[in-house]
Amino acid sequence: MKKRKKRKMTTVYLMMGVVVLSLVIGLLVHYQLTAKQTAVKEPVTQEKEEKKEEIKEETKDEPVQEEDEQQVEEVQNEEEPVNEEEPVVEQAPVVEDPVYEEPVQEVPIYTPPALSAEFSDPYSLLVVANKKYALDYYFEPTDLRVVNATGNRTHYLRDCAASALETMFVAAAQEGITLVTCSSYRSASYQASLYNNYVAMYGTATADTISARPGYSDHQTGLAADIGDHDQATVFTQAMENTVEGQWLYAHAHEYGFILRYPKGKEWITGYSFEPWHYRYVGVEYATAIYNVSPDCTLEEYFGIEGGDYAY
Ligand SMILES: [Zn+2]
Repeated sequence: MKKRKKRKMTTVYLMMGVVVLSLVIGLLVHYQLTAKQTAVKEPVTQEKEEKKEEIKEETKDEPVQEEDEQQVEEVQNEEEPVNEEEPVVEQAPVVEDPVYEEPVQEVPIYTPPALSAEFSDPYSLLVVANKKYALDYYFEPTDLRVVNATGNRTHYLRDCAASALETMFVAAAQEGITLVTCSSYRSASYQASLYNNYVAMYGTATADTISARPGYSDHQTGLAADIGDHDQATVFTQAMENTVEGQWLYAHAHEYGFILRYPKGKEWITGYSFEPWHYRYVGVEYATAIYNVSPDCTLEEYFGIEGGDYAY
């Protein structure tokens, strides 16, 4: 009995062992299979993915080229607007600059009339000699003559201006006003000596406010006269403004064709200090028209001619 039991037990153990072994083997096989499947699957998926990527790359390559072209086109398209934009940005200040310079560009507004023969012809009654526009250095009017009026010495003016001055002095005398001619036509060489003396005395900056450089003087036109009071006490001084002679000239000179050439407060346009003694012949018509604008209207303002300081 014991032997049978032992046999049964051993067979049971063997069966159990077989079952366990088969289970273990089954598990191992299953594991290996699944491992193989995954190992097989992985390369497949890798290959597929690689193929996909290749396809993508292939498909990409073409569009990439297109994109490149497109990009180039876009870049070109972008560059164009960029070019448009950049100049716009660059042009903006360029456009703005002239806007800011517009006051400066008022200069050309003055320039055209000055360039016209009417203002550049030295024989015109409207000829302009200021710090922007010079006469020919050697210009000397051919119709200069001695002025037959009271003067501190012999004076010369162009015939028309001399006649007008003589008439004016007579008219003033009839009202008890004695006018005296103190300066008239000056050649450029004489102006040079005057100017150089002022430079030696006061320096260039000051000299330029009271004396013209040779070639730039209103006196070289033969149409300008410096007029003093009866005893010349205030001649060449701004005190002349308050003398009866100064006041008479200020009120009546235009009736004889003369304008106050360097009025008070117009230094910025004439380039010179107020000179209540300096009168310039332009003819009765224009002298009256200018006076009617204002007794202090300048030749430059009336005709829109550039004035002010020297350009250099
Ligand atoms: Zn003068």
